[in-house]
Amino acid sequence: PYDGPSADEILAKRKTFLSPSLFHLYSKPLNVVDGKMQYLFDENGRRYLDAFGGIATVCCGHCHPYVVDSIVNQIKRIQHSTVLYLNHAIADFAEALASKMPGNLKVVFFTNSGTEANELAIMMARLYTGCNDIISLRNAYHGNAAGTMGATAQSNWKFNVVQTGVHHALNPDPYRGVFGADGEMYAKDVQDLIDFGTSGHVAGFLSESIQGVGGIIELAPGYLPAVYKSIKKAGGLCIADEVQAGFARTGSHFWGFEAHGVVPDIVTMAKGIGNGIPLGAVVTTPEIAEVLTRRNYFNTFGGNPVCTAAGHAVLKVIQKDKLQNNAHVVGSYLKEKLTALKDKYGIIGDVRGRGFLLGVEFVTDRQLKTPAKTETLYIMDKMKEMGVLVGKGGFYGNVFRITPPLCFTKEDADYLVDVMDYSLSKM
Ligand code: PMP
Repeated sequence: PYDGPSADEILAKRKTFLSPSLFHLYSKPLNVVDGKMQYLFDENGRRYLDAFGGIATVCCGHCHPYVVDSIVNQIKRIQHSTVLYLNHAIADFAEALASKMPGNLKVVFFTNSGTEANELAIMMARLYTGCNDIISLRNAYHGNAAGTMGATAQSNWKFNVVQTGVHHALNPDPYRGVFGADGEMYAKDVQDLIDFGTSGHVAGFLSESIQGVGGIIELAPGYLPAVYKSIKKAGGLCIADEVQAGFARTGSHFWGFEAHGVVPDIVTMAKGIGNGIPLGAVVTTPEIAEVLTRRNYFNTFGGNPVCTAAGHAVLKVIQKDKLQNNAHVVGSYLKEKLTALKDKYGIIGDVRGRGFLLGVEFVTDRQLKTPAKTETLYIMDKMKEMGVLVGKGGFYGNVFRITPPLCFTKEDADYLVDVMDYSLSKM
């Protein structure tokens, strides 16, 4: 049993001693004290079905015993900086990770977060090409440091950043975008940016394959292949941000970009890679990796033994527990059931996504697509009261993000949809 401070006491401390910028998801914030696979437990031992998996960070399940054992065994042996000495953990995980990549993507750089991974990828693209211009998508989220905040393209995540050399292309958003689901039309905007906004040469193009923070937007079909072609022609590198879509989450594929039939030059990852442990990675080709030998590249903890032991354990669990197949089968089933709810409730404007990266967008008017922001919060709160946690996202804050741990079952999916149905019926 838990005998720590109550939710109210923690909230008071948080208000006094922690950043005023911290936010929480619910009108009455949840004090999470334990986690087990797809479940979280509050201070009173009440169980919640976790369909947000800590923003897609928990891949195998909370406190998955094999991952926990791997971390504990490693930390009992040695934890240190990555850079100074040899250790097998980082080498073994790099080898295992490279084996999951297509083409010549064989060299791994480890970081501590997704932001750092994208910062590094952008820098490598600039060094490799000798160009400065980066193109990213409107509505993207790539991180919160100087370069990545520039590449991020939603005003609510941008502070007073000096944003140089970044161009934001039309978002190929099939639901709200001007060209509907016509990927090739949106791709022309990238060619326009190259032709009219740059010297004709660019450093690279950075995008998610399914936008997470942006509200689970699947890029329109045909978009990425056309854009990759334009970028290559302009001498740039294509960078895939797999921070949310990677590690089997989309079910149909191990990496999100694979569904688009493209092979990037650089892939960045974080979140699910370590099942909640701070870890990120950049994977690229030996030729591109060379650029970091021009100076010293140093990252004290990037790829430390404990975090890479966790990462390696995650890969093994995905394989052993057949989590990609589960994400595909249960994710498709869940999406079908959510789509059926859409027929029942006019407030659901769109259901989208793949595997366990699903979105439900709420609108007060289906024609006008008016964001139902307060209603979204209401339904979320109501579902939490009934023991189901979902996430929220999208520029207007009116999209449910359903990104459970990959061990989520069919019964969990049924329960989630029943609770959502009931909550909607009480609106
Ligand atoms: N890329 C994507 C697609 C993300 O969703 C996030 C985090 N929301 C990041 C990068 C940044 O990762 P981190 O918070 O670990 O820096």
